[in-house]
Amino acid sequence: MTDVYHWIAGERLAGQRTIDVINPATAEPVRRLSMADTATVQRAIDAAREAQPAWRDLPPAKRAQVMYRFKTLLERDADEICALISEEHGKVLEDAMGELKRGIENVEYACGVPELLKGEYSHNAGPAIDTWSNHQPLGVVAGITPFNFPAMVPLWMYPMALACGNAFILKPSEQVPSAAVKMAELLDEAGLPRGLFSVVHGNREAVEALIEAPEVRALSFVGSTPVARRIYEGGTRQGKRVQALGGAKNHAVVLPDADLDNAANTLIGAAFGSAGERCMAISVAVCVGDATADALIERLAPQARELKIGAGTEKGLDMGALINAGQRDKVAGYIEQGAAAGAELVVDGREHPLVDGSPGYFLGATLFDRVTTDMSIYRDEIFGPVLCVVRVETFDEAIALINAHQYGNGTCVFTRDGEAGRRFADAIEVGMVGINVPLPVPVAFHSFGGWKDSLFGDLHAYGPDAVRFYTRRKAISQRWPRRSAQESAQFNFPS
Ligand code: NAD
Repeated sequence: MTDVYHWIAGERLAGQRTIDVINPATAEPVRRLSMADTATVQRAIDAAREAQPAWRDLPPAKRAQVMYRFKTLLERDADEICALISEEHGKVLEDAMGELKRGIENVEYACGVPELLKGEYSHNAGPAIDTWSNHQPLGVVAGITPFNFPAMVPLWMYPMALACGNAFILKPSEQVPSAAVKMAELLDEAGLPRGLFSVVHGNREAVEALIEAPEVRALSFVGSTPVARRIYEGGTRQGKRVQALGGAKNHAVVLPDADLDNAANTLIGAAFGSAGERCMAISVAVCVGDATADALIERLAPQARELKIGAGTEKGLDMGALINAGQRDKVAGYIEQGAAAGAELVVDGREHPLVDGSPGYFLGATLFDRVTTDMSIYRDEIFGPVLCVVRVETFDEAIALINAHQYGNGTCVFTRDGEAGRRFADAIEVGMVGINVPLPVPVAFHSFGGWKDSLFGDLHAYGPDAVRFYTRRKAISQRWPRRSAQESAQFNFPS
């Protein structure tokens, strides 16, 4: 077992209290993690406040240079980062590489910060008056991230926050801390001045300290909905800017005209990739018509039974272990509830040989048919490898069902009919929509965010919204009166 320390102003700092980080594939402790108290969080804040003014005053192009170097270093050490992710999270190595690459896209976008911060300018906005608006950094900002994307979700936040001229404090998930520290070391190697980026480990106490600290001007949070709501309410009460992304229940609608082979093949990955522990995972397939449902299940069931499952660190697997014993038991409990409520259990993940044959937190893929909207397996976010098929008679019914759900993160429709796809995109009350794209995670130059209980706040994560979130606007009006023109006092508002 090795130790994982806080990273503050370029130095490793041990905490008074530690917890074990567990490898979910073996159920064995692999690291001892230092946990932050309020005083440790304050050290990170103090270092950030000291370092930020000089960084703010650098030309954005100089800040972008650090991001260029950081990108190169992330690519150099990608295998090492992915091995850490896989060992602590359980996801397969190829999937860890996928998340890292999607994360690096955000570093690339941040390299364009001189262009993004250019602002707006009006010559002669009034008589001899020029007006311009620019974006200025907020100061010290912080991010709190979930276990399921140890590299990608933090990379949604800090490259742009830093490139905009802020200092950033990251509180990663205590279940997967090592990738965050490794990336902090790479930022240091890339030449980021010390103090601008710190990693503090912990859970509720550390997060409360960030919420309470008046020096922290904004909080980005990604995690479950109850915590997202609490952080949004606590942070905004303190006058902070907050974006808090929460949980999800993502539906895919399958229309009778869809290419069913293609729909089934992509749904398998979207439902069971990363053991379903993705906020964009498809967990409900809404089939329009019984014939569509029968044909889809005929294609899904054999694939679900044959998924290759094992320790994520082995090559060539489809799915790894779940994050911890509690989550594995919770998902198994939902399978029990679904069967008891009358859903048809087509494939039962509890029967996978690894469930009893390994100390790790494994479950096979589960497929339910004839799920109804009153069942807990339909209503709740399960966050595991469980796909529910709901049968409806019409496309309108499918749209109404999705719009009635509390979550609105991602959704998709499978169809060959362009008109139906367009209508779906217009009518659906969900923040990210795919048309024959089951995981419509936007590229880094668009922004990511759900609607309803999937996001609290006004601005989405990364992309153009991140520039707005991590800066505040200033409008400057300037006039240089002519020496020859004597001006008289004016008491009315100039028009
Ligand atoms: P979580 O809410 O348990 O934890 C997220 C973060 O909050 C962690 O850093 C954790 O230490 C901290 N935290 C936990 N409880 C806290 C409390 N009471 N007070 C303050 N901080 C607390 O979420 P998780 O289990 O790590 O991640 C899974 C959840 O995240 C799922 O619900 C998933 O849908 C969601 N998620 C959402 C998105 C999105 O973009 N909407 C992306 C990834 C994950």
